Amino acid sequence: MNSRMPRRVFLGGAVSAVSLLRPGKNLRAEQPDKAQAAKRSGWIDAHVHVWTPELDRYPIDKRRYSVSDMKPASFTPRQLMKECQPAGVDRVVLIQMSFYQTDNSYMLDMIQAHPGVFSGVGIVDHRAADLKARINKLAVAGVRGFRISRRGQDVKHWVSDSGMARLWETAAGSGLNICPLINPSDFDVIDQLCVRYPDTRVVIDHFGRVGITGEIIPAELDALCRLARHKNVHVKTSAFYALGKKKPPYRDLVPMIQRVIDVFSPQRLMWASDCPYQVQGKHDYESSIALIRDQMDSLSDTDRNWILRDTAEKVFFSKVS
Ligand SMILES: [Zn+2]
Repeated sequence: MNSRMPRRVFLGGAVSAVSLLRPGKNLRAEQPDKAQAAKRSGWIDAHVHVWTPELDRYPIDKRRYSVSDMKPASFTPRQLMKECQPAGVDRVVLIQMSFYQTDNSYMLDMIQAHPGVFSGVGIVDHRAADLKARINKLAVAGVRGFRISRRGQDVKHWVSDSGMARLWETAAGSGLNICPLINPSDFDVIDQLCVRYPDTRVVIDHFGRVGITGEIIPAELDALCRLARHKNVHVKTSAFYALGKKKPPYRDLVPMIQRVIDVFSPQRLMWASDCPYQVQGKHDYESSIALIRDQMDSLSDTDRNWILRDTAEKVFFSKVS
């Protein structure tokens, strides 16, 4: 446990460092308690990256990235809040930015500095010998998921990789999530991992990037929907700026969103902006949330609450026990 961590964050996470490491202990996520849920009526944005130009304090991984990759140069919680608060979003899941690789410290410091506002998805080296201890430490600090990304990796190898196996096993039944950033060509690998680890909760980023080429390819959407057979697979309805025609108000994405609603149900979907990318150029925050909030005619108020808040609250803001 980090001694700089305020008590409130530690208790909010409610993770016992001992219990996460105790062999054989079956960890279950709890529902948010009712009193707390009643207090929070704002929406949750389930995927945002923050970074800072304070490079001395928070260095980027210079082996893979240069400062010129940081576009925009800065996206801090203050900049984020200016975008999301007018849309009624008061909680956000921070996703560890690739520039920092496995150094999660900026994200953790921002979680600590804004109690109750942020959850986190970290990056761990799944090949590390002390992987469980690293996972435990991050969970205590408020992390609820671990990002696995195809970038620079042979995704096919994930099925036979012993580190990946330990990561999925440790997350199983714990309230911690595996969050793949993948392409449609990777769905079969995720399918195999879900067969092997049925108790591991999975949250797939951005519809598995169906539509990233500019076109929603029916066979790719079908393959995403086949993953719904695994009850623990969730999908982020997110990154509208990057999918299909890539043009606000993104109405061309309505049939794809409707399809995943029909197949996964609102209880396994969560909206996210993928800021700061959603607020660059012709794209804006309001157009992203409005697509789910105002344009999906089939949704009841309860359905909409699940996609815009309740699924993310259950998956990323629950205590881990
Ligand atoms: Zn992202």
